[in-house]
Amino acid sequence: MHVLVVGAGPVGLALAGDLARRSHTVTILERGDGTIAQPRMDFVGIRTMEFMRRWGLVGPVEATAYNRDLAQDNVYVTSLTGYELGRHRSPSMNASEPPQQSPQHRERCPQDMFDPVLHAWTTTFPSVDLRYGHEFTGFVQHADRVVTTVRERATGRALEIESSFLVGCDGASSKVAAALAITYDGQPALTNTTNVIFRSPELKSLHDKGQAYRFICVAPEGTWATLVHIDGWDRWRMSVVQTRPEGLKPEEVDAAIRRVVGRDFAFEVQSVNNWTRRELVAQRFGEGRVFIAGDAAHVMSPTGGFGMNTGIGDAVDLAWKLDAVLAGWGGPRLLESYTIERRPVAVRNSREASDNLARMLSPKPSPALCDDSPAGAAERERVGREFSQAMSHEWQTLGIHLGYRYDESPICRYDGTPAPPLDVAHYEQSSRAGGRAPHVWLADGRSTLDLFGDGFVLLHLNRAADPEPLVTALRRAGVPVTIVALSEPAVREAYERSLVLVRPDGHVAWRGNDAANAESIAACIRGAHQQQ
Ligand SMILES: Cc1cc2nc3c(=O)[nH]c(=O)nc-3n(C[C@H](O)[C@H](O)[C@H](O)COP(=O)(O)OP(=O)(O)OC[C@H]3O[C@@H](n4cnc5c(N)ncnc54)[C@H](O)[C@@H]3O)c2cc1C
Repeated sequence: MHVLVVGAGPVGLALAGDLARRSHTVTILERGDGTIAQPRMDFVGIRTMEFMRRWGLVGPVEATAYNRDLAQDNVYVTSLTGYELGRHRSPSMNASEPPQQSPQHRERCPQDMFDPVLHAWTTTFPSVDLRYGHEFTGFVQHADRVVTTVRERATGRALEIESSFLVGCDGASSKVAAALAITYDGQPALTNTTNVIFRSPELKSLHDKGQAYRFICVAPEGTWATLVHIDGWDRWRMSVVQTRPEGLKPEEVDAAIRRVVGRDFAFEVQSVNNWTRRELVAQRFGEGRVFIAGDAAHVMSPTGGFGMNTGIGDAVDLAWKLDAVLAGWGGPRLLESYTIERRPVAVRNSREASDNLARMLSPKPSPALCDDSPAGAAERERVGREFSQAMSHEWQTLGIHLGYRYDESPICRYDGTPAPPLDVAHYEQSSRAGGRAPHVWLADGRSTLDLFGDGFVLLHLNRAADPEPLVTALRRAGVPVTIVALSEPAVREAYERSLVLVRPDGHVAWRGNDAANAESIAACIRGAHQQQ
């Protein structure tokens, strides 16, 4: 069965790959040629890395050219050759260890290295047809198919492609979303920002601030720029955080780079991008046979590094549901759960990203900030202390990346256990329905997460409980399910019940100590039950 994906950014590639490994035929339309002039994302969150593990892509990420020995410190400075106001220390990728809740740790991998990893994987599937230079222009939706119109950019030729489903992973300003007349909630303009990628092999040796991933520059007028070590070697990205809508002129770009560093030096500007920072979430993530995912569904400030990671979560949620419907076992309410599950995650993450932006812009220094005087030293101590405290929120986000849950999903069967409050920094593993199934190391060296990702998995954790009624009900409905019996005490403790049903995306669908009401559970988790 055929799915048409518009956009070969990270979300479109991930969705196409996850569908192809479930044996579906996928066409990806990409209007560009695959070149990434301005790498945007570079922070790959821990949950995304868990999906990369599922797809066998951790090794390729670790093998990219990023400098894995670069300490990941965030440093608050007046300039690189000026005063250091504070520092959040963070280990290099080579020195990072996973937290106890996961087999993976978060990664640093800039988009022009990360997207090629996804591209290489996705295009290994013979059932994937990636067409560069092809632009989506519109669609007509029928009861049983979607007919999409496409323009081949080199020739101007118009084509039509028929598919069972169409998914717009076409980024901010999505034409697929526009064609569905989808509107967005939020804030259309937080700041106007100019991003500049430049190269300078000597910059590392021109200052005394040591290794860092990012320098945040604070002047008497407040936070004005950031400098990110984009590849850990010689490429950098300077962002002037609040500019005019038309951005900086070339001479202003050069002056800003020198101001960030605090001296003249040799550099080569490679690209300049003026963009508007936004906080927008689509009111619905699809209609009928057409869906949107990633930036097409939500755009957020990069502060926190949530954007792509939220989008990959969309792709993983949608892929198994499309698979279920295409394979015939998905019920009529299954696809409706996509917006219900993913939209609250996008709202939460985009708000947190805006809060991080507000914290980054929070310093209100006095004019004495850069003075070589006791008053200047006292001001630097105050600003550094307050800023370090404010910024610490952004560096501790396990609760965003692992703690997102589907609390009101029509396809989860809840047992009445109250949902603990969502917390940005902290995440406690739980087998409560709607949450991510816990990671526990197994005696054979695998993680429990390695059990998930294809069909449903029914964990059988207590011999006294009989899994058969539920397995029979699921199989009768055509749901692919595997029973996995485990007796490790740590698994039984983390999973809290005798039977736990885990969905193909690794979220818990149901848990219990017996499988009474098996038919009703089976109908619920595949979206085949009546609306209450
Ligand atoms: C400075 C910056 C730093 C960031 N850092 C991070 C980070 O560290 N971590 C993180 O998670 N996120 C980060 N983000 C956000 C992240 O870059 C985006 O969320 C992510 O790229 C979205 O991926 P996507 O695939 O949804 O869309 P995109 O990457 O925008 O890809 C969309 C694709 O669709 C194609 N397309 C568009 N229209 C059409 C059409 N009509 N026909 C055919 N093709 C079309 C485009 O050419 C493009 O290739 C950052 C963003 C910025 C601006």
